[in-house]
Amino acid sequence: MKNVNFRLLNLESEKMSENMSLETLCVQGGWNPKKGEPRVLPIYQSTTFRYETSDQMARLFDLKDSGYFYTRLQNPTNDAVAAKIAALEGGVAAMLISSGQAASFYSIFNICEAGDHFVSASAIYGGTFNLFAVTMKKLSIEVSFVDQDADEAEIAKAFRPNTKALFAETIANPILKVLDIEKFAHIAHTHNVPLIVDNTFATPINCRPFEFGADIVIHSTTKYMDGHATSVGGCIVDSGNFDWEAHEDKFPGLTQPDPSYHGLAYSSSFGKGAYITKATVQLMRDLGSIPSPQNAFLLNIGLETLHLRVPRHCENAQKVAEFLEKNEKVAWVNYSGLPSNKYYALARKQFKNGHSCGVVTFGLKGGREESLRFIDSLKLAAIVTHVADARTCVLHPASHTHRQLSDEQLIAAGVQPDLIRFSVGIEDPTDIISDIRQALEKI
Ligand SMILES: *Cc1c(COP(=O)(O)O)cnc(C)c1O
Repeated sequence: MKNVNFRLLNLESEKMSENMSLETLCVQGGWNPKKGEPRVLPIYQSTTFRYETSDQMARLFDLKDSGYFYTRLQNPTNDAVAAKIAALEGGVAAMLISSGQAASFYSIFNICEAGDHFVSASAIYGGTFNLFAVTMKKLSIEVSFVDQDADEAEIAKAFRPNTKALFAETIANPILKVLDIEKFAHIAHTHNVPLIVDNTFATPINCRPFEFGADIVIHSTTKYMDGHATSVGGCIVDSGNFDWEAHEDKFPGLTQPDPSYHGLAYSSSFGKGAYITKATVQLMRDLGSIPSPQNAFLLNIGLETLHLRVPRHCENAQKVAEFLEKNEKVAWVNYSGLPSNKYYALARKQFKNGHSCGVVTFGLKGGREESLRFIDSLKLAAIVTHVADARTCVLHPASHTHRQLSDEQLIAAGVQPDLIRFSVGIEDPTDIISDIRQALEKI
């Protein structure tokens, strides 16, 4: 078993990854067995780890040595998978966490405390919206939502002296707005705060937000990364680029002594590893949202084919979007791979091969009623509360995930009442399109 140093990555063990392509990292990143060790990443299904002297253990508790001692803080299976994702995103350190929701929460709570404020794009996942607008408010952490397509001067108006972060999704779920990451990074840095990007839908195969100036990336690994709909999970990756000490007063949690570690300060002790070290040894220690090693193992198997699956999802989605756009019963189609799409040029600039994700949204001329009849007539595409797994699936947000909202609230959230969220899988595209065709014929 390797000792992974949480001071600076998982990347310590990842020196071999420096010149490897994303494809190779998907297959081999994170786990480099030595002589006689298992070729496949093992599941370290152990809550605890043995030491020989009490002093060895004490040094771990003081963060003077690195090593595993209790799985709530770190586990070798989880760390190997975190290291793979860090390498895929081009970051310096990462941590796995039990869900995408937990990743969103920790990413903000690691730098904001009661009395602080952050700015978020309004086009975000519904669960994240509730977390930010309702639950974090109860902790006295306030959020202001902005229209991500507004110009810099407009968005800048949301910033206050106590603003600590800017948050957005690379591709918004479910309304598929594409974020201009460079613009957002510029706004964040002008206000001396980090940009946190939820890169769930694009995945590092299509987009690496650090290359456009993002500082921290989070994922719901439940989606394309797992890819098979087996395990809920999340991940937080740090680029190591944000200079906390340059804005010492703004980020006391990172730059000032932590009384729960005898006055150690993360930025001076751990440098580029400060943010992930704090999230691990302080937040994970106290809040405990760890993924099980078993789930990390399954996530790793998903990651081994991410580079094959994601392009296939996107090619299939492109074909579906083109088919829908030509069909006379379809009122509108939203997919950034269509030249008619508002985000087409931005997607070509930011995403590899212009590929965004496998999710297409559209509406039917008959509106809400016809949308429901269409969904009920699908055979290959299943009605499930999920997106981004190998099997094609479909959801009507107005009747399902956003059911509590009135039509006006739906429109304000950018979710039209007739919107169908269609997550294109990796089956034969001809079969997917035949299924859509036969369902359209029923309406
Ligand atoms: C699903 C999702 C989340 C929440 O992730 P869970 O793993 O379900 O907790 C966050 N962000 C985006 C973009 C998502 O699609």
